[in-house]
Amino acid sequence: METLDVVRIVLGTAIIMVAAVVALRRIAFLNGYIRSGQPAVGRTSHVGKRAELEGTQVLAQRKLLQWAVPGTAHVFAFWGFLVLGITVVEALGEVYIENFWFPIIGTWPIILFLEDLFVILVFVGIVIFAIIRLLNNPAKEGRNSRFFGSHTGAAWIVLLMIFNVLWTLELYRGAKIALASEEGITYPGAFFSNWVASLLAPLGTGTLEVLEMLGVLLHIGVILGFLLIVLYSKHLHIGLAPINVAFSRLPNGLGPLLPMYSGGKPIDFEDPADDATFGVGRTEDFTWKDNLDFATCTECGRCQSQCPAWNTGKPLSPKLMIMNLREASFAKAPYVMAAQKANDGANPGLGEVDEAVLEKMPPSVKDAVERPLVGSRDGMPNKDTDGYDAAGHRDHDGPVIDEDALWSCTTCGACVYQCPVDIEHIDHFIDMRRYQVMIDTSFPAELNGMFKNVESKGNPWGMNASQRNAWIEEVDFDVRVFGMDGEETIPDDVEYLFWVGCAGAYEDRAKNTTKAVAELLTIAGINFMVLGEGETCTGDPARRAGNEFLYQMQGMQNVEMLNEIKAKKIVVTCPHCMNTIGREYPQIGGNYEVVHHSQLLATLVKEGRLTPVNSPEAGMKEVVTYHDPCYLGRHNNVYTPPRELIESVPGVQLVEMERHGPTSFCCGAGGARMWMEEKLGTRVNVTRAEEAIATGASKVAVACPFCSVMLNDAVTSKQQAGEAAGFEVVDLASMLLAASKPKV
Ligand code: SF4
Ligand code: SF4
Repeated sequence: METLDVVRIVLGTAIIMVAAVVALRRIAFLNGYIRSGQPAVGRTSHVGKRAELEGTQVLAQRKLLQWAVPGTAHVFAFWGFLVLGITVVEALGEVYIENFWFPIIGTWPIILFLEDLFVILVFVGIVIFAIIRLLNNPAKEGRNSRFFGSHTGAAWIVLLMIFNVLWTLELYRGAKIALASEEGITYPGAFFSNWVASLLAPLGTGTLEVLEMLGVLLHIGVILGFLLIVLYSKHLHIGLAPINVAFSRLPNGLGPLLPMYSGGKPIDFEDPADDATFGVGRTEDFTWKDNLDFATCTECGRCQSQCPAWNTGKPLSPKLMIMNLREASFAKAPYVMAAQKANDGANPGLGEVDEAVLEKMPPSVKDAVERPLVGSRDGMPNKDTDGYDAAGHRDHDGPVIDEDALWSCTTCGACVYQCPVDIEHIDHFIDMRRYQVMIDTSFPAELNGMFKNVESKGNPWGMNASQRNAWIEEVDFDVRVFGMDGEETIPDDVEYLFWVGCAGAYEDRAKNTTKAVAELLTIAGINFMVLGEGETCTGDPARRAGNEFLYQMQGMQNVEMLNEIKAKKIVVTCPHCMNTIGREYPQIGGNYEVVHHSQLLATLVKEGRLTPVNSPEAGMKEVVTYHDPCYLGRHNNVYTPPRELIESVPGVQLVEMERHGPTSFCCGAGGARMWMEEKLGTRVNVTRAEEAIATGASKVAVACPFCSVMLNDAVTSKQQAGEAAGFEVVDLASMLLAASKPKV
């Protein structure tokens, strides 16, 4: 054996052994940390769908490609990682066996071609990533950068490491091919490596042998160093993203909230167990899937860039929330794992700490155990960014999550929709809200009124049930009210139960929508019925505010009643009612076919049962824009029917706002924000109204009573400031009705 071979084998083995020990220790920690979470329910069903997600989301990079430029760069890096995996095996083999190639396929020209192609594409990818990072430098762009608060230093190191992987690969491979060519062996297909070999060939055999050995050692050193950086940084996502996607909440993490579980068992709200955990009050109350989410975040900031709260100056960034939860739960994990071991796998009870275990922990872990999960960061550094500064440094004092950040979320779903690794932000935030409301009784004071009103009056406004039918007295056609003729179940001739909703019954603007929908259904000859005083709040605002007890009370009452009267097809005007009745009530035994009025009306227009004839002003063109409600669009995937309705009106031209469809911007009312004061930053509804006005349209059409209130308020405030003269907010149904009735 020659000296060079000995050096290569000894040094190569030493590098591999050291890296393997460090990597295995870290993998053992990560495994223990993730498994220390509470049981997660329903994460292994629908294997076919999960396999499909691996194909579309991981292999085809569907979500990443929503952003064309960074998405394409990521495709290069991801597929390069897979293809160049062959060369990693070859480099490890080369430590022990000279001129080692991957068995069978290693020297196929097509494989050699692909490897060289991806060396170039990965290089192009990292150049694009570098440019994107320079253009979005948080030190210059501040909050406008999606990398604000991300660990940018680590990201640059990883780009450098990828570059090192590429040049060391080409160094050893070029030398290897140059040496082989001296013996007349050629490698067709390796177009780039052959070119490098041609540059190195004049150096002569001795130098080439040294270069090959150095190249191999450098290459495996870089790769194993890269592996360790990955394991200790946000680049963990390279290994965890496919796993996180495989266990994601189907179909897409949006729509219904998850039922509440304690220790993996559903909570019986009529008779909860004494030791039941309500929501998340400590990091160890999160499930293993939640832990996996935190560890998987890539810090890409796509969620942050779309968040209405972050974009209007609130302390909430979904990315920073996830980073905070990761940092805190990683720091606390040694104690949690040891305490569970000492307590037969269970966490110490709520509010309890296993002092004997804690005593043995280092000071940093003790500090982590003492930090409250949620609380006020008033007066603390970086208050407006949940504790982070632009360089990605977190202030470690005080609560993990600023309560102002937690309560700023509108549950709009923009973060979940954007996240390329399927992190379920809303579920985590609602779980923390649940604990805050049901255990800690610490929540924005304004919610007290809403909770009391829903509980005592059956609607968030505190109106009397007798007022639910007031709108019927204002219309000049008959509306059938369930029970008025002694019905005990919905009569067979009634096609739809019209769920009016609290806003639709009590709020003036929403009442107009209710009346318009009822009239349009009457014109189209649809038999429908309303529940009148039999209706009560679905519980949606209480649930989004974390008051699951109240939601369960409302939901059970409604489901019992709807099942008793044998309701089947329900039409609603409110996307929140649609989401709750259609997608959350199945969790408590209510299964109905629920449609939004825009869907039903669009069908009636298509069937010719409604015929819009009047243009808004005879002979005039009217430009209208449309605001997608979060709970109709992102949460329930209804984008086309509202647009079809607008375009069905003669003389109306639809123009889109820059943020529309799945990337629509929230109105600010979801997540029970409708009942909270907006004290921080600028107003979400004003931002959205400005976008609508900027289209040059004369009207913005809305399809949700909350959006209607929010945008009307914003437009009024603009008009009071002397702006947006003549601009109007119209609901789809009223617009269609105006076009469908003969002009007088
Ligand atoms: S749901 Fe909407 S408001 Fe809440 S964190 Fe996500 S993007 Fe922000
Ligand atoms: S949560 Fe998802 S979208 Fe947000 S920074 Fe992390 S990986 Fe990116």
